[in-house]
Amino acid sequence: MVSTIELNKRQEQILQIVKENGPITGEHIAEQLNLTRATLRPDLAILTMSGFLEARPRVGYFYTGKTGNQLLADKLKKLQVKDFQSIPVVINENVSVYDAICTMFLEDVGTLFVVDRDAVLVGVLSRKDLLRASIGQQELASIPVHIIMTRMPNIAVCRRDDYVMDIAKFLIEKQIDALPVIKDTDKGFEVIGRFTKTNMTKILVSLSENEII
Ligand code: ADP
Repeated sequence: MVSTIELNKRQEQILQIVKENGPITGEHIAEQLNLTRATLRPDLAILTMSGFLEARPRVGYFYTGKTGNQLLADKLKKLQVKDFQSIPVVINENVSVYDAICTMFLEDVGTLFVVDRDAVLVGVLSRKDLLRASIGQQELASIPVHIIMTRMPNIAVCRRDDYVMDIAKFLIEKQIDALPVIKDTDKGFEVIGRFTKTNMTKILVSLSENEII
């Protein structure tokens, strides 16, 4: 079984004591280990923060009974887009396909978001959109991107407070690589970020390296 949290020896001992005696106060755990309450405080904090133990005021600590997998799932479910999003690359709808291709290379992204002159989201351009437009075309410098982009209202978007696991499912379902993170305005959607499959991959690596509590 995968456990994302590696406990040290003392934390394992605490867990064992609480499993057998819980609910039990911090004071009593300390007594059993011949340590002071203050010495135990960091370990108890880690065990409660990571979800192995729960603390109830005036009752003490008790064991949640959750496995490493359940704790990992709990953690994942709480992560929000705002903490992992990237900077969006945005171009105007009148920019040429040629310039969009240059921007994609220069900015090193796979998806460009297209906006009108009010900075409102009107479309999305993927690598394949630009490749498709390039096949057999000589006039890339004179075709504006709004001719070839995927346009509103068919753009899938997300918001800062969305949960990353919902967005991950959405990316799979829609078979796309990226979503604009948007803010609602009177005129439409303002693009404030970018959430991609790469962001999801980074979350996975951070979790395995215990960088996300
Ligand atoms: P690629 O085409 O480079 O593999 P995607 O899978 O992201 O990249 O894009 C597939 C198609 O979906 C493209 O035509 C693209 O315009 C469109 N698309 C990409 N992102 C979105 C989005 N957020 N909402 C709607 N359509 C999108």
